[in-house]
Amino acid sequence: MSDSCIFCKIASGEIPSNKVYETNKVIAFLDLNPASEGHVLVIPKCHGQKIKDIPDDYLSEVIVALKKISIGLEKMKGKELDFNILQNNGASSGQVVMHAHFHLIPKESDPSSKELGLKFTTSSLSPKEGELAALAQKIRDCI
Ligand code: AMP
Ligand code: ZN
Repeated sequence: MSDSCIFCKIASGEIPSNKVYETNKVIAFLDLNPASEGHVLVIPKCHGQKIKDIPDDYLSEVIVALKKISIGLEKMKGKELDFNILQNNGASSGQVVMHAHFHLIPKESDPSSKELGLKFTTSSLSPKEGELAALAQKIRDCI
């Protein structure tokens, strides 16, 4: 628990949220600035800025919550949906609230429908032959 953290205050009930799901270890509530209808934030109830700061049992429960809530959103909409699951992990990745959280952003699965939610675009590097294999080995050596 961090006194200055808005998501800790939501987790403790000190400030209100539009809660959709809760267990002993996680709470999920609607994002105040939704990228699409049903945009949910899922957070561990313990404070930590980044994924590496969150105990495994809390993190595991977050993933299960994302699954349950996505199924619930499909039930509410009465159809299959697609989702962006987004986790900004540190300021340079776009994290604004420094309590680890996952965005669950529903998207219409019908590609002909009006696009809702996040559009994910990225520029990509162009690795030379052998570079990816060498990099994968370096990463394996560090895990
Ligand atoms: P991020 O950029 O990943 O840190 O996203 C933080 C998200 O938290 C943004 O989408 C905000 O709209 C959302 N947010 C901030 N404060 C609240 C709040 N009190 N209740 C619900 N969502 C919030
Ligand atoms: Zn916090």
